[in-house]
Amino acid sequence: TYNVREHSYAVGGLGMTGQACVRYLLSHGAKVKAFDTRSSAALSDENLTKDMIASMQGKVETSPLTSAFYDDVDTLVLSPGLSPEIEQVALAKSCGVEVIGDIELFARLNTKPVVGITGSNGKTTVTLLATHLLNSTGLKALAAGNVGLPALDTLDTDADVVVLELSSFQLETTSNLALNAATILNLSDDHLDRHGSFERYASVKHRIFDNASLAIVWRDGDNIQPRSASLQLMHYGLGESEYGFGIAQIDDKAQLTFNGNALIDVSEIQLAGTHNVLNVMASLGLCHALGVSPEAAVPHIKNFTSAPHRCVEVANNGVRFIDDSKATNVGATIAALEGLAPVTTGKLLLIAGGDAKGADINALSPYLLQHVAQVFAIGKDAELFAKAFENTVLSNDLSEAVKRAYSAASHGDVVLLSPACASIDMFDNYMHRGQVFKNAVEEVIAA
Ligand code: ADP
Repeated sequence: TYNVREHSYAVGGLGMTGQACVRYLLSHGAKVKAFDTRSSAALSDENLTKDMIASMQGKVETSPLTSAFYDDVDTLVLSPGLSPEIEQVALAKSCGVEVIGDIELFARLNTKPVVGITGSNGKTTVTLLATHLLNSTGLKALAAGNVGLPALDTLDTDADVVVLELSSFQLETTSNLALNAATILNLSDDHLDRHGSFERYASVKHRIFDNASLAIVWRDGDNIQPRSASLQLMHYGLGESEYGFGIAQIDDKAQLTFNGNALIDVSEIQLAGTHNVLNVMASLGLCHALGVSPEAAVPHIKNFTSAPHRCVEVANNGVRFIDDSKATNVGATIAALEGLAPVTTGKLLLIAGGDAKGADINALSPYLLQHVAQVFAIGKDAELFAKAFENTVLSNDLSEAVKRAYSAASHGDVVLLSPACASIDMFDNYMHRGQVFKNAVEEVIAA
């Protein structure tokens, strides 16, 4: 067994995840030092606890590292926010230090059943929904990883099971994670600036299956089918199927089925859009792998409220305003357009743009042509939207875009913020972007 007392660690990056590593390692008697690429001044805003500051006195390096830093270190735990390509990591490797992520450290220490979720879109929704369903049926489940708690913070709890949301950055530095069930929900262009190519991004995502006991697989998904033929599979999809999850017309109603048996009327699933029906199926599959039957879990779907900034209505004065600020890539915006178009009687006015992270915005063109009356583009890559869709108006900022969209709107129309881009060029994060949207909406409505 792996014992942290027998190792000496450097933690790279002191954000939420790095702090959880330091805390865990210190409290279990390991030797720890840390580095961060930000200045000490920036770090002092990071809410490090007094205890941690005291224990880490003189052990946090914010200047460029020399090999002396790694003299007494055997393991570098790298935060997902830092790229494995940075010079501090290259230096660690040249000094013979093993480089792992916090999820790998968790994997070496964890003894609870755990399921893992990755994909380009829907991770948080599925992680929170599966956790909700498990907790509603009497297991104590914790959502952790890329959402909720840092994974290491689940180790010393009395939770029965852990539901891990895993980003590509976390999977990149993980090799021994033995999941009871794993899923890649879908794969579309995202983070290509950091991973280099789609193939590279996809192969990082596929690491989730490496030591898994079961794969939960979307029947019709591209590039998400496990590459190992020996892995046990459970399938789901929107078509009719005798096995796994599917949809069948029974008594003239679309029913979600499991192994051919009706579970719930699809119209009773209140989460908007067909992509959310897939998310429900994936969540039920994960619960099944942890011993909770779909029949037991299904009644609790209706008590699940979706997370903020994911296709949520923030105002309605005849014009509906929808905040989908979490749509940070093209795939998410396509899902929002396809989910909303069928339930919109008027025009769809889209506010989009920001940092496209190297993705192909032209991939949106057919969906814009089919569903959208006008695009109001903002941010660094606004011009890409003008190229992808003729009826695009460039705006200087989000408030201006909201004003223009509102003047173009009539009763029954929808103003949708679904940027298909990251927010970092103009905002602190997607939550900040969603808040600015809401404020701007309240202003135009009041004016
Ligand atoms: P993630 O954690 O992977 O970013 P979220 O659940 O936070 O996923 O949703 C992110 C965005 O993707 C939202 O805009 C949401 O509406 C959209 N989305 C959610 N589920 C799916 C899905 N299965 N396919 C495509 N888009 C989705």
